Amino acid sequence: MSQSDDCLFCKIVAGEIPSTKVYEDDTVYAFKDIAPKAKVHVLIVPRKHYANAAELAAADPGTLAHIVEVAQHIADDAFHGAFRLVFNTGEDAGQTVFHVHAHVLTGQKFEE
Ligand code: 5GP
Ligand code: ZN
Repeated sequence: MSQSDDCLFCKIVAGEIPSTKVYEDDTVYAFKDIAPKAKVHVLIVPRKHYANAAELAAADPGTLAHIVEVAQHIADDAFHGAFRLVFNTGEDAGQTVFHVHAHVLTGQKFEE
């Protein structure tokens, strides 16, 4: 059994678990977070399974850069281009799903 067989976000990318799609292309899939922490809260994941942002950066830096571009496009549409981009990395940092995902938080002003 490969690492991704039991991965929630691999199943979302494959369409085996439903999600609300925001954007997709050959390398990434973006969908609404089920428990939004901002007016607009989108998760962007690579289609391919990597455990965290550091693994993705080492193996495929182009896709990591592409995730930043996609976040910018989402924020351009939602909130004149302003956004927060968060990668929780490691359990003690709050990572609960070990398929790398960028949290795009936008659609509202953040004070701090
Ligand atoms: P983490 O805590 O790993 O950085 O972020 C995981 C995120 O995935 C959380 O914000 C959580 O709300 C979201 N999430 C967990 N399960 C699901 C799901 O089944 N569907 C969607 N759309 N989001 C999920
Ligand atoms: Zn996965």
